[in-house]
Amino acid sequence: MGKTRTLAEIKEKIKKGTAVVMTAQELVDAVASNPVAFDDVDVVTTATKGLMSGILGVFTFRVSPPKVHRKFVELSMNGIPGFPGPCPNEFLGVVDVLLYGTALSKDDDHYSGGVMFRELVEGKSIHVVTRSNLGAEIEMDITLEDMQYARMLGTRQGFKNYNAMVNPTAEPVNTIFSALPMRPHSAELTFSGCGAMNIFQNDPEYLTLGVGSPLLVNGGKGYLVGPGTRNYYLKPNMMAIADFKGMKPEYMGGFKTSYGVEPICSLAAPIPVLNERVFNNLIKSDNEIQLAVLNVVGREKVADITYGDVWGGNFEVKFDPTKCDDCHECPGELYCPTRAFHKRRGIDRARCYNCGLCAITCTAAPQAFDIDMKEVMIDGRGVPVVLRQSDRHGAIKLATELKTRILEGEFSLEAPTAPLDFAKEVK
Ligand code: SF4
Ligand code: SF4
Repeated sequence: MGKTRTLAEIKEKIKKGTAVVMTAQELVDAVASNPVAFDDVDVVTTATKGLMSGILGVFTFRVSPPKVHRKFVELSMNGIPGFPGPCPNEFLGVVDVLLYGTALSKDDDHYSGGVMFRELVEGKSIHVVTRSNLGAEIEMDITLEDMQYARMLGTRQGFKNYNAMVNPTAEPVNTIFSALPMRPHSAELTFSGCGAMNIFQNDPEYLTLGVGSPLLVNGGKGYLVGPGTRNYYLKPNMMAIADFKGMKPEYMGGFKTSYGVEPICSLAAPIPVLNERVFNNLIKSDNEIQLAVLNVVGREKVADITYGDVWGGNFEVKFDPTKCDDCHECPGELYCPTRAFHKRRGIDRARCYNCGLCAITCTAAPQAFDIDMKEVMIDGRGVPVVLRQSDRHGAIKLATELKTRILEGEFSLEAPTAPLDFAKEVK
């Protein structure tokens, strides 16, 4: 195993102000230009910002005085249906509610649970409509501060990177893997995964992460609960939980695809560099991390590329409205999946997901954009990347925030309480 250090030693160095904490991006950048050894780094902060279908809100709040209604059987928040229950909370006047991040408002197909979660964190008032078992309807407005309990739970989050998609069929396909209908004959490629920043990618043997590991979830304090649904030891994902109170809106929201609105969620985890094996897993660059290209219809593999092919070191989409032609119909304004793009005001940085769609769809003044969306070679043919479904720039920001909090003593590293028990086979 070579050189080692204990978690207690790392924590002591943090306390004394002598610990070296780097983001995973800083580490791979440093390794690319100079030799970096185990002795040079104590903690590496990893992160991912992606579309995570499995997130849901778990809420408890009062909707009536006690003793008035026996129980509540229906509930919506800003027009999005939730699930009241499971216990009846008989005559208490409070409800427990589960509401999925992918659930859509009945009035607006761009408004989903993920968007509502962001608005809650922004402090906005949410309109609740609930119906009792005897048909009494109650309407009220509520904020996050009014709620007794508000946690985000993820049934599967933070996959060890993901896949790229093409559509080799002869017809366009509406899919969660594309903001616009995906063009046929493999004319374009979309991908997900933060590559060298990804959490499980940096601890692929689960040598430091485990049940109870502390995390940042959307900037708020959270915990790794255990393996998520559809987990597999070679492609792990996690279930995490965190209080909505403490999250930051910029790390969350909704992303409109051609087949529904996917919730945005950001996770960051510290990896204490306990031994040289842990260190060797941390220094892999994007060029060393495989990215499978799948057929979006059926998901069979059509090619292998790497995250170096799609990221190429440029992560932030920049736009200069003064170089813009001010077209009558601007695709960026029409189709921006997060409603962050405005041709005159520019990009709302707190909403932008850096997906690149505005740059790809602008044909009138490409010089207004500063981003290289890359083209990858598949079967000897160049296929343009048209959408990034992970926000590497946002992931680096969250990993940097975690680094600062560790160094300032606001985030404590803790050993897990049990190992992660991932499935050995897929059923
Ligand atoms: S399409 Fe391009 S040039 Fe035209 S308004 Fe939009 S960003 Fe500007
Ligand atoms: S990169 Fe452009 S299209 Fe994508 S979220 Fe940002 S502003 Fe919207």
